[in-house]
Amino acid sequence: MVKIETVKRTISLCPECLKNIRAEIVWDKDENKIFMVKSCPEHGDFQDRLSSDPDDFIWQQTYTETLGSDEENSTKPVELLENIKGCPYSCGLCDQHKSGPCIALIDLTNRCNLHCPVCFANSAVAGYVYEPTFEEVVQIMQYFRSIKPIPPIMLQLSGGEPTLRDDLFDIIRKGVKLGFVNVMLTSNGIKLAKSVEYCKQLVDAGLNSLYFSFDGIESKTWKKMRGVDLSDVKIQVLKNCRSAGFAAANIGVVLVPTIVNGINDHEIGNIIDVAREYSDIVMGIVFQPVSLTGRISIEDVNKMRYTTSDLKQAINKHTNGLIHKFYPLSLTSKMTRLIAWLEDEPAFSMTSHQDCGFATIGVLDDKNNWQSIEDFFEVDGLMKFCNTTYDMVQKRELPHATKLLEGMKNPPKIIRTVLNFTDAMTDLAYRQIMKLYFMAGAARYFKGNINQILKNQKTFFNFLKIMWSPNLNSVAGFFLNRNIMISSMHFQDAYNFDLERVQRCLVHYGVINPEDPSKVLEIPFCAMNTLHRSVLEQALAKKKETKSIEQLDKEIYELIEQVSK
Ligand code: SF4
Ligand code: SF4
Repeated sequence: MVKIETVKRTISLCPECLKNIRAEIVWDKDENKIFMVKSCPEHGDFQDRLSSDPDDFIWQQTYTETLGSDEENSTKPVELLENIKGCPYSCGLCDQHKSGPCIALIDLTNRCNLHCPVCFANSAVAGYVYEPTFEEVVQIMQYFRSIKPIPPIMLQLSGGEPTLRDDLFDIIRKGVKLGFVNVMLTSNGIKLAKSVEYCKQLVDAGLNSLYFSFDGIESKTWKKMRGVDLSDVKIQVLKNCRSAGFAAANIGVVLVPTIVNGINDHEIGNIIDVAREYSDIVMGIVFQPVSLTGRISIEDVNKMRYTTSDLKQAINKHTNGLIHKFYPLSLTSKMTRLIAWLEDEPAFSMTSHQDCGFATIGVLDDKNNWQSIEDFFEVDGLMKFCNTTYDMVQKRELPHATKLLEGMKNPPKIIRTVLNFTDAMTDLAYRQIMKLYFMAGAARYFKGNINQILKNQKTFFNFLKIMWSPNLNSVAGFFLNRNIMISSMHFQDAYNFDLERVQRCLVHYGVINPEDPSKVLEIPFCAMNTLHRSVLEQALAKKKETKSIEQLDKEIYELIEQVSK
């Protein structure tokens, strides 16, 4: 009897020499787990666990396609690099890449006020300072905004710790001015814990969301994850954001926990509870199972590896089975474009690979208990309807007369007359017709009778707001109205690297090209962190002094004392 079944074949990297090698994704039926297995002619065999739930892994391979959500995302920069070195060595963006950027990511510095063992980039460890000038940051933003036909509308300012820059508020303002609809700041929160005033300045600058690293609530978790007990500091950040008026300004905090097996996987429930407690300002959680970079033994990889399937089980368990269905991110790729088109707003589309991440929505009722989004909407039906409506819009079709008039023996003449005007119709009229059609059609997928709907008015009406006014503000409002997005993105490392995934990556770094500073390189996130970061940053590094680890420790202990007073 076959105990190992091949699920698919792909190309990965050798974790030792980082050369391309063939890999198989297999279902080990003895262990009932999914593994990536690969062999380097020079460095031998490697095996890494991708999923502890084969049924779920196999389901997610075809789910989005089955509902018709798969979308060609051909948004590309004007100048593409030739893929001469092969993937993933030709990033820039090269002509083989399959997804345009959904999130434009700029590292503002690699300086940090912490020195976490799980960090991608840190000047104290790297020994050099990478910090683009204000003008270079603007050059990168302009590059992203010039992408055709759909420039990214989300800008993520990251690091290192971007709050260490004195010109951060100017950078946020510039991002808003250049047309980014959602300007996100990644932060460990140290600076925000120090002062409400600083948080208010972020509000005034026009920030839209705070991507806040939050690994748990226990002191021992923080000590292991970040080298120092930040439990009180992190809660202080949430309180300061609250006092600074984040909710009134529609600024959502997204908790971003890095999950390491055996270190903080037991904190997943605590993190969800914190999101619930601060649901007036917390719009979501993006769990990030740890990405294992640097030299590390295979034993440690096995010990620390945490997969999205483990995460799904933990969330399900903590919510007593209420949050139980987790959707690949690309499920929404046509829906997001459709709602943007209906409102004549800038579009975006999440066309990432199905194994990159998932999302769902947890709804809080009036007693602060969790309910699942499936209690309110028939999700599969609604998504299918969004997808077919989007496909109609692409072909400029009108809702089919026979469908509109299904069951009617003598359809009114007027409808046929209206349909004859299709070609002559203005864009505005067409948009209005499709909006009405969409709202009427989508209503079919709300669950329950009118009494049930009235009982759950908040969620129902907030969702209706998206239907009536489906722009990004109403989406942000939806998540700040006690509906919390619970999601995950599993960044890759050399052990689980999958070329199919990285070629569909939609989180793209912008970096000045060291060989020609008039140009910008656009590099998919997981390729950057696995392969390109140190080479590029060293070529662009400024010879600035970086703080010593002792100095960083001294400052953080002063803050902990200040917060606990
Ligand atoms: S990851 Fe994308 S941009 Fe980089 S080499 Fe591969 S296809 Fe090209
Ligand atoms: S950043 Fe990594 S995990 Fe996320 S979409 Fe890109 S390739 Fe996938």
